[in-house]
Amino acid sequence: MQTLYMQEFQKIVGAENVLTGQEDLFCYSYDATPGYSHLPEAVIIPENVQQVSAILRLANQHEIPVYPRGSGTNLSAGCVPLKGGIVLLMNRFDHIIDVDLENLVVVTEPGVIVADLNNIAAKHGLIYPPDPGTVATATLGGTIAENAGGLRGLKYGVSKHYVMGLEVVLANGDILHTGGRNVKDVSGYDLTKLFTGSEGTLGVITQATLKLVPAPECKKSIMAVFKNLDNAGKTVAGIIAAKITPATLEIMDNATIRTVEDYAHVGLPLDAEAVLLIEVDGMPEVVAKEANEVLRVLKTNHADDIQVAQNDAERDKLWAARRAALPALAKLRPTTYVEDATVPRSKVPEFLREVSRIAKEFNVTIGTFGHAGDGNMHPTIVCDSRDLKEMESVKKAMNEIFLSAIKLGGTLSGEHGIGLGKLPWMEQQHGSKVMDAMKSIKRALDPNLILNPGKLVGEC
Ligand SMILES: Cc1cc2nc3c(=O)[nH]c(=O)nc-3n(C[C@H](O)[C@H](O)[C@H](O)COP(=O)(O)OP(=O)(O)OC[C@H]3O[C@@H](n4cnc5c(N)ncnc54)[C@H](O)[C@@H]3O)c2cc1C
Repeated sequence: MQTLYMQEFQKIVGAENVLTGQEDLFCYSYDATPGYSHLPEAVIIPENVQQVSAILRLANQHEIPVYPRGSGTNLSAGCVPLKGGIVLLMNRFDHIIDVDLENLVVVTEPGVIVADLNNIAAKHGLIYPPDPGTVATATLGGTIAENAGGLRGLKYGVSKHYVMGLEVVLANGDILHTGGRNVKDVSGYDLTKLFTGSEGTLGVITQATLKLVPAPECKKSIMAVFKNLDNAGKTVAGIIAAKITPATLEIMDNATIRTVEDYAHVGLPLDAEAVLLIEVDGMPEVVAKEANEVLRVLKTNHADDIQVAQNDAERDKLWAARRAALPALAKLRPTTYVEDATVPRSKVPEFLREVSRIAKEFNVTIGTFGHAGDGNMHPTIVCDSRDLKEMESVKKAMNEIFLSAIKLGGTLSGEHGIGLGKLPWMEQQHGSKVMDAMKSIKRALDPNLILNPGKLVGEC
């Protein structure tokens, strides 16, 4: 990048907010996704919307790529500055602007950490439901841009269900305001939903109006062990058929159970084919009724062991197994790929069996855990990225996993987004006409292709 442009950027945000040292550039060359890195030419840290607008106007004029970044915890290489240019770090946008208790909305800047919003909401008996495993580090901007979900997605949905309005800066520097505090708003195209989940490819989010909901008064957690995977599958279907929507309905497969037991010694039987963790929440009377119904479905479907938490300490103990799933798998080998292929929930047992077959066929280690209630699985491949031969097998296994999810009527991503990692299968899932429509939207809003180029829709 020419020194002249760098001086212009320094004028906009101050020299101290334009980082060009090699160590700084290295720190922003990668994110939480293994296997991708590229040095940017500068890291720019704006603090207000006018600065973002001026930066984008200049970048657009000179066709300099811009990569918005929150905390860099995404798992789809969404922040990797693949074509050099600028990393636009949004962490200084860290203010909550308004907590509106009459409308149950909050207006916030995108650099606020998800857990910080929830701590403020909790003081008012409210929650912001999207709860990725990274709540303590991920930013609201990153979660909105990825359309992130989490453990309670079955009942509460993902980020798009809570984003009511956005302030977005387009590639040409124009500042847009979409949506607002209206519960009902069908005026025009739903641009709020378009920018939510757009992974920094259509605009930079500088403010968001988010819906808060009342915190559940009471929760009940139940863990069930199954020696037979089909019985676990029938239980998931049975709970939904009984018209119960648990906040959480998680599953771990045998490979994950063995790894967790070895790591955390929580007492899981090594021959179990599946463990389900179920949590119902709401008013105490409803929770009691739903928990009883869940127990009935578990018994009907021959759960081999059932544990019900009677208090917070016991709830914590049940959750320990699920919490240990990712760290236990990650500890096995130096490199961890956490995927999030998603299938209709009725297909979860079939998908888990497919993943076990793929692991055997390609001789790679895969543990699968995830959100059985909404079919969002996390096949987790552990390997060593320095072993090129092993990586060939990992690539083949990944290809088979995504193809089998698509074949089962599923999708490439339930919550982690597409970024770079899942691009090769996008056309397979959506077909060429849908891809063309997505690319047209990209070209219309960002004709010089400066915003996170090469991601989500690929080259345009
Ligand atoms: C251990 C672990 C567990 C995880 N668990 C979950 C989980 O349970 N559920 C889940 O959904 N995800 C999960 N994730 C993935 C990740 O935490 C989420 O994708 C999160 O939303 C990323 O937030 P971030 O602030 O780190 O965003 P970043 O990684 O910085 O950015 C993510 C994307 O958003 C874009 N972006 C960032 N800020 C803006 C902005 N202001 N305007 C426009 N675009 C922007 C970036 O360009 C990038 O494409 C997990 C990740 C890890 C490492």
